[in-house]
Amino acid sequence: MKTQLYIGGQWLEGDATLPVINPATGALLHDAPAASDAQVDAAVQAARAAFPTWAALSGAARGEFLRRIAQGIRDCKEELARLEVMQNGKPLPEALWDMDDCAACFDYYAGLAENLDSRHEREIAVPHDDFKSLARLEPIGVAGQIVPWNYPLLMACWKVAPALAAGCTSVLKPSELTPLTALELAQIAHDAGLPAGVLNVISGGREAGAALTNHADVDKLAFTGSFETGKRVMRAASERVTNTTLELGGKSAILVFDDCDLEQAVEWIMFGIFWNKGEVCSATSRLIVQDGIADRLLERLKLECERVKIGDPLEAGVLLGPLVSHGQYAKVTGFIQRGLEAGLTLLTGGQRPAHLTNGYYLEPTVFIDVPEDSELWLEEIFGPVLCVARFTTEQEALRLANASQYGLAGAVMSRDLERANRVARALEAGIVWINCSQPTFCEAPWGGLKRSGIGRELGEWGLNNYLQTKQITTYLTNDKPWGWYIKKEA
Ligand code: NAD
Repeated sequence: MKTQLYIGGQWLEGDATLPVINPATGALLHDAPAASDAQVDAAVQAARAAFPTWAALSGAARGEFLRRIAQGIRDCKEELARLEVMQNGKPLPEALWDMDDCAACFDYYAGLAENLDSRHEREIAVPHDDFKSLARLEPIGVAGQIVPWNYPLLMACWKVAPALAAGCTSVLKPSELTPLTALELAQIAHDAGLPAGVLNVISGGREAGAALTNHADVDKLAFTGSFETGKRVMRAASERVTNTTLELGGKSAILVFDDCDLEQAVEWIMFGIFWNKGEVCSATSRLIVQDGIADRLLERLKLECERVKIGDPLEAGVLLGPLVSHGQYAKVTGFIQRGLEAGLTLLTGGQRPAHLTNGYYLEPTVFIDVPEDSELWLEEIFGPVLCVARFTTEQEALRLANASQYGLAGAVMSRDLERANRVARALEAGIVWINCSQPTFCEAPWGGLKRSGIGRELGEWGLNNYLQTKQITTYLTNDKPWGWYIKKEA
């Protein structure tokens, strides 16, 4: 495990350390380095120094490095996945899947980097024969990239791969709870021969994040995390009007109509809220179910929830691991406690499983008949807690779904595809799934409306986040005077 920061191609001791706790046991896993303000500054300066040379490479040349990083991730997929499990608590098969997605993300952006060579300058038709205009795509510069703990390495790859593909250099700050796989990514990039300073990884807490967002030499801020921190990042960015993208929280709805396939609906409802322990920004944490199917569906859902194997995330067959930290456990159980005190009805769960005395384990939890003004309905809980409400008409379902401050994702379950498509278009969300919930592809745009953020990641949109457009206009007829101020002698 790495004990140092990666700055300018060198491994350096952190000025301090931060404990990384294994959530399955509550025991110390590792003391990770924590960057001081001076070390954040050193990382930004290293990225600044590396920028001109990296930006001047062809996209194809940058793509080669990205492909080597993808292969490096594949080569140590098992070790990376186990490390992710130990710092985050997600079940091993989910972590292995994440690692495949990480490698695929680098390969995908390698392809977009190669493509960029043929499209980085294009002529724009202008209605004047004396002029020629070009639109030219250029990398923005040094990217300060801050990621959360729920998909520690995948969120890092979603940021680093497009930035590097575009020709930007990166200073990546992983979450203080889960910095270990991001530091391994630095080693993989180093082994892939990535030039010094192109990627810098500085672990650390909120102070390191703040130092990065406040740094005058950062040209682009890309943040994934909570709404409250997102506001702070935006405030810091406003000082210098730094280009900023924000991927924030969500409280997404899954709308289940009477005519759905009941078994499929239960499967996707569970995948939408228990996958990754419900610590998923796009989790469909509000179930809005039609009257005609509600009783049967909830009966089946309760049965399946009670069958979920909870336990050590490295143990075969486990589908629900511990929440990431003591703090997150306290936050989620606080919501449950207040919900019960407010008289809400539990369908199932709400407790620590009796056989798991250590670690931050919680049963799959479902509250039914949750009123619209309950904090459980309104706030992002970020754990395996589903809130259920019923509806009669499509209009009512949409109103309930859209009455949220967030707008990240949504899902609709119905055999009537015409209706499903109509509902998908009416949902106020950046991502909508029909007859499923959560599948994510690095080719498709990702991001939210309202408090869920600004901008889109992944796909070509992810690359565009790190590019700026320059106009170059040439006066073609120098032999023909423009003649506005300097008139030709009569
Ligand atoms: P968080 O906001 O607490 O922390 C996110 C990151 O910001 C961490 O690296 C943290 O150290 C850093 N940070 C904290 N204070 C900072 C400051 N003042 N300035 C700069 N950086 C600072 O979020 P979290 O608890 O790590 O993650 C959970 C949140 O992330 C949830 O709200 C979730 O919905 C969201 N999320 C969103 C997406 C998305 O794609 N929209 C994806 C994953 C997670």
